[in-house]
Amino acid sequence: MSKPIQVHNIETLEVKSHISDKVYTRSFKGVFRRLRIGGGALLFLLYFGTVWLTWNQRQAVLWDLSAKKFHIFSSTFWPQDLVLLSPILIVCAFGLFFLTVWAGRVWCGYTCPQSAWMWAFMWVEKISEGDRNQRKKLDRAPTSLQKVYKKSKKHGLWLLISVVTAVTFVGYFAPIRELVPSLLTFQAGELATFWVFFFTLATYLNAGWLREKVCLHMCPYGRFQSSMLDKDSLVISYDVARGEARGARSSGLDYKAEGLGDCVDCQMCVQVCPTGIDIRDGLQMECIGCAACVDACDSVMEKMGYETGLIRYTSERELSGEPLKIVRPRLVGYGAVLIAMIITLTWAIASRPLVSLDVAKDRGLYRLNTQGEIENSYTLKVINKSHQNRRYNVSVKGFEGLNLIGPAYVNLNPGEQLTFPLSVSVAPGALKVDVTEIAFYLTQLGQNDSSLMSTSRFTGPLDNHRKY
Ligand code: SF4
Ligand code: SF4
Repeated sequence: MSKPIQVHNIETLEVKSHISDKVYTRSFKGVFRRLRIGGGALLFLLYFGTVWLTWNQRQAVLWDLSAKKFHIFSSTFWPQDLVLLSPILIVCAFGLFFLTVWAGRVWCGYTCPQSAWMWAFMWVEKISEGDRNQRKKLDRAPTSLQKVYKKSKKHGLWLLISVVTAVTFVGYFAPIRELVPSLLTFQAGELATFWVFFFTLATYLNAGWLREKVCLHMCPYGRFQSSMLDKDSLVISYDVARGEARGARSSGLDYKAEGLGDCVDCQMCVQVCPTGIDIRDGLQMECIGCAACVDACDSVMEKMGYETGLIRYTSERELSGEPLKIVRPRLVGYGAVLIAMIITLTWAIASRPLVSLDVAKDRGLYRLNTQGEIENSYTLKVINKSHQNRRYNVSVKGFEGLNLIGPAYVNLNPGEQLTFPLSVSVAPGALKVDVTEIAFYLTQLGQNDSSLMSTSRFTGPLDNHRKY
């Protein structure tokens, strides 16, 4: 198995001075920028749009905290389904492992919400204050009406995006069609108001102020990604052999004869980088794999009439002159586990029972009822997780002579949870042992083979003359 490749600056991250400086990114155009805009637009559409969808007269995706139910289109999940959380997390983890081993930090560069919101905030910055040099100039300029206007416009738009983001997020937990009017009329509950305020602040700070520092200092993924990359992982790299020696050149000069490589040392790759690094120093932990430097350098290469790809997606093996190797044991291993986990998860979701029955024996061992029988009391809890009405016959089995005292039928509406008391009695002479296992059955009417069963204990004295 290939060794993980070296990622620079893991140890010295905190002391890199240029990272703590404000990064002024330059705008650029290119294939990967268009890809990222497409991915970001899809993410925003899903995030801001899904919350407004309706399904069967209710919000399609809603984590209803008060009812302790999670609706996702036609499925409803209950706290009892929390066991599914483990396979879901394992699928996500192996999906990320597979993606990282195959193509480095593509998740960070294209789909991570932190990056998507950061790029959106950077776009707002550009339309409010201008491109890189104008922003630098504005920051250095003394306070003026124009400066106040531009800064207010930027922060106002940032806050607007943050508020909409926060309200949408809270709308996945409290019905959005009730939440928005209640916020607009200042009638929202304290909890909802607090979380809207909290997520507004978090979005504003993360995407507006902290930006790449979240990726560098707060995200654990960036820390362990280096141990996952190997010599065949696709990462964004500068082709040193082709680029060096770097340097400016006059047009018409035979630069190769002068000992120069293809890098004209224009710094464009550094100026577009949202984390402010120079990819020519090698793969660094700060690199979020956004490919901005690829687009920037390709446009320079095109202008110079050179071949594009001086900075490109490549592997350490390919850069060293060997052929690119995509299929390898590590990638196949992660892929196989991922597929197995997706199949297991799908099976677990598809086969989870849509109606559940729990029986709890009430406190107290037994009592003698007015008919002189030994009686035990129970509480039955039935949950209908399906979207159909269900009607069940209630019965109890265990030994001869058991009598059920309580409802013989239960009706369950879609999504209904029913808790009801029930007693079981027996004539004193019918008891053979003092503790017997019994089973409660719910049999769906018209479908005798569709039963739910839950067991409990029946207790009573063997001595019929004992005082109860
Ligand atoms: S953009 Fe390309 S040519 Fe310009 S400095 Fe970076 S690597 Fe060199
Ligand atoms: S080095 Fe290139 S790919 Fe990495 S973060 Fe900077 S611009 Fe993006």
